[in-house]
Formats: sequence, C-alpha cells, structure tokens
Amino acid sequence: MDRLLVSRRDSASGRLEDTREAVRRGSKTPRVAILGAGASGLAMAIRLLERGITSFTIYEKSDGVGGTWRDNTYPGAACDVPSHLYSLSFAPKRDWTRKFPRQPEILAYFESLVPRFGLQDHIRTGVEVTSLTWDEATKSWQGTLETRDSGTENFEADVVVSGLGQLNQPNIPNIDGLSSFEGEVFHSARWNHEHDLRGERVAVIGIGASAIQFVPQVAKQARSMVLFQRSVNYVIPKPDRRFRPWEHWVLANVPAVEKLYRESIYWRFESRFNMMRKGSVLGGLLRRGFTKRVRLLASDHLDESALVPDYNPGCRRILIANDWYPTLAMDSVSVVTDPVERIGPRSVTAGGVEHRVDTIIFGTGFRTTEFLTPLKVAGRGGVELNDVWSDGARAMFGLSVPSFPNFFMLYGPNTNLGHNSILFMVEQQVGYILQLIDMMVLDGVVSVDATAEAMERFDTEIQDATRRTVWDEDCSSWYKNETGRITNNWPDYTVNYRRRLAHVDTADWSMRL
Ligand code: NAP
Repeated sequence: MDRLLVSRRDSASGRLEDTREAVRRGSKTPRVAILGAGASGLAMAIRLLERGITSFTIYEKSDGVGGTWRDNTYPGAACDVPSHLYSLSFAPKRDWTRKFPRQPEILAYFESLVPRFGLQDHIRTGVEVTSLTWDEATKSWQGTLETRDSGTENFEADVVVSGLGQLNQPNIPNIDGLSSFEGEVFHSARWNHEHDLRGERVAVIGIGASAIQFVPQVAKQARSMVLFQRSVNYVIPKPDRRFRPWEHWVLANVPAVEKLYRESIYWRFESRFNMMRKGSVLGGLLRRGFTKRVRLLASDHLDESALVPDYNPGCRRILIANDWYPTLAMDSVSVVTDPVERIGPRSVTAGGVEHRVDTIIFGTGFRTTEFLTPLKVAGRGGVELNDVWSDGARAMFGLSVPSFPNFFMLYGPNTNLGHNSILFMVEQQVGYILQLIDMMVLDGVVSVDATAEAMERFDTEIQDATRRTVWDEDCSSWYKNETGRITNNWPDYTVNYRRRLAHVDTADWSMRL
C-alpha cells in the first residue's frame, strides 16, 4: 500500500556513508537512466558511483561524451567562465593551459573523466531516447530509444535523470528561400570542417555568443564576410592568457592554492549578479562607459547602430572577446543591421540590398525554451510534459515536475545563469537528486515528485524575482519564450540556490513507499 512520508529533513553528505554501507550490504538500488553524456550526465554518474550505486546507464545520442563541447567545434570555440571554475569540484583539473579554456581542452577534460572514474561500462553512445512513459503499477519508466544501426529498443528504469540541458537543439530560422540556396549552409553547432572557407564570400546570420568567437577566425580566411546582426551585444575584454610555468607548478602542487584560486573566481563572478538587477548602479556605469568607448569605433565603414546596444547590460548575455571589434573594423567585414528578408540561390537580402555569398553560417543559437523536445515524456495518468509546459517550462528547483515521479532534470528550467558557472548549479542539482535516491535506498521510497502546491509556490516566487531582473526589460534573448516568460534563468545569487537545495524538505514532495 502506498504511503506518504511527511516532513523529514535529510542532507546529501550526511547520508553518503549510510547509503554506501547499505549498498555494500546488498540493499536494492534504483535503476537509473541518465540521458546525455554531457557535463551534467557525467557528474550524476560519478556521484552515483561514489555511493557504490552501479545500476545506471548513460544514454548518449552522439558518438562520445562532452555534450555541448562535443557539438560545438567551431573555430575559436571557448568558454567564458575561467578554467579553474569550469570543472567539477570533485574532479579538479589543475593543469589548465589558459585562464579561459578552449573547446578542445574542455572536451578532453570531460573525456578524461570516463577512465578516471571508471564510467566506460555505463555509457551507451549512438542511442537517442525518444519516449518515456511512467507506469504507476510498477513505479517505473518505460523508455524507447532509437539506435543508429538496429532500430528501436525498449528499456525500463526506476529513475530518469535528464542531462540534456538547454542548448542542444540548433535553431535554424525558417527564412524565405533558404532551401533554394546553392552554396554551403551550416549552423555553428554543426560546423562543416570539410568545407574550405578560404577565399569565400561568407554570410553569418545571427550574432551572439558563438558568432563573436568564430567570426574573427573565419574573417582571417574568407575573401569577405557580411554579418547579419539583428541585436547588438555588449562585448567586453577577455582577460585571457596562458598560465606561466611557475603558476602551473603552484596550482598543481599546492592544492590549497588551487582551491583558493577557484573560490576567488567563484565569488568574483557571484558578485556580478548585482548587475542582473533592474536599476543596477554597476550596470548603469558599464552601459555609460561601454557606449562612450564603442562609439569611438564608428566610421564610414561601421555604423554606430551596429555597435551601441539599446538595452541594459545583462538583458542579453554579456560577451567577452578581444578580437571582436578589430574584426568589425576589417575592410573585408561588413555589418548589416536590417532583418534578413530572403535567401536566393547565391545571395542573402536584407533591407532591400542583395548580398552575393558562397556560404551561409547560422549563428542563430538554440531552441532554448523547448527544453526536452523532441523527447516525449508521459507522466502519471498519461499527462504529457509538453502539454504541462504549453505556456512555458517550469519545474520545482528546475529539476522536478508534479505528476512526473522519479523524473529529474539537470540544467532544467530557470537554472541558467548570466553571471557564474553553470557547473556549480548542476552540482547542487546532482546533490539534491542524490538525497532523494538515498531515501530510495535507505527508506524504501519508491517514487517521488514535487507536490503541485510546492511547484506553484516556487514558480510564483521565480516569476516575481525575474521581474526584478534586467532580463525582464526590453531586449530579445534566448532566456524568454514567445510570451515573454523567462523560462531559462535562475533569478538570484547561486549561493541562495545552494542553500535552497542543501536539504530536502519532504513537505514539498509527494513520496510513496
Ligand atoms: P545566441 O547568443 O542566442 O545568439 C543567437 C543570435 O542569433 C541572436 O543574436 C539572435 O538575435 C540571432 N538570430 C536568431 N534568429 C535570427 C534571424 N532569423 N535573423 C537574424 N538573427 C537571428 O546563440 P549562441 O551564440 O549560439 O549562444 C547561445 C548560448 O550558448 C550563449 O548565450 C551561451 O550560454 C552559450 N555559449 C557559451 C559560450 C561560452 O563562452 N561559454 C560560447 C558560445 C555559446 P536576436 O536576439 O535579435 O533574436
């Protein structure tokens, strides 16, 4: 007979030893299906193994691990969070070559976690989970996956943890005439490395975080580039350089220094949340200083409208680069601020002007507000997640939705940041899910989902808080859905997220034994 547990508090670290001991003595552990072998899926797996839990599989669509860092191989791809903060706290990397890591080094780091923690036997690559259906009778998820070679397969899991994240579905706008284009077309997250851009006329549609990194690299090779920039970005200097040999030695050999260095980066970045608040004095100062400096770059070749944003810093992600403005100043590079009207067999037209091009690269970002799409998830009573989310994705702490028992998300709705490392958020989520899994191993809990009341309360709080941030102001960004609801960002300091997730308050959860 199902029974509801009430009001008990647990802490993740407090029960690690108990769970490990119970597993050693042969307690039953839930079968966990982890979707995606990106940073968050790997973090979840490593922390399960720490508890001695081996009853899990990571299902990964691509050929290997690394998630977004496997997909995004465009020239110049790098992270805008400093290296020493962009690693899992329980899997430090002390020999980063640069202050800000580049894609090959980040991918190598995530790949290195597989042998380092013995994950190889738990990962299935080349398989895409396409549907999940909750079976209330067996309290388990019935899953379907597509393999590349042998068709459809079914699987069963007691717990599903999605590590699919927010940035995995490339957004290619439906522009009139796109299919008629006779040259090469690709998206930044699906870079065609076979295609030689040397001497070509290249169009880039969409200028955001990815484009400001690859455009300077492509501009070195292309004959000409025309950038279709609908919204202007704040691009500020990137304090990047290689670590010096003595710094490497200290960071590698004095663990306390590495720890302190990581902490100092975290707190410096954490303080930047202040700028995400409406009316931020710091934001006002940045805007004034930035506008003054960037106006000086305007010329006959480069219009002020392509340089000066018309919104407050942070409303869209603040970008960092040292080669962006020098690239815009190149004679071979031009910026078009009019919206793209149509694409012809060898051209892109905007503002009534036809630009002849050989290749189009989309830097148009991702379908960020659709979250788990195209995965179909049917919860208790057959309710579909896409229907529940028809007016915008929401989840308790970004990780659980009422009526979807034992289904947890990492980097889910309202957990993205504009000011600090997303890996910090993912680690808090993993810790929280582990507390729930501890309850399954130690207390016989068989299913758990957020209560509708807790979800409603949390969502109201989040939406109220987002209205106090600059994201709510008048700018376009991937943080909002078409109704203007901010579905992606966590509207507070990350320390407050950590505090909220430190202990499970069972009053917020519907748990069955
Ligand atoms: P993005 O920042 O969302 O930029 C996409 C751009 O495409 C936007 O400026 C958008 O303009 C434009 N766009 C969309 N549809 C368009 C259309 N039909 N015509 C013209 N322009 C169009 O996407 P992203 O550059 O791929 O970056 C997404 C996120 O990935 C980043 O914010 C970041 O979180 C992550 N990322 C991180 C790093 C890093 O250093 N850590 C690097 C790359 C990416 P509108 O705003 O006007 O719609």
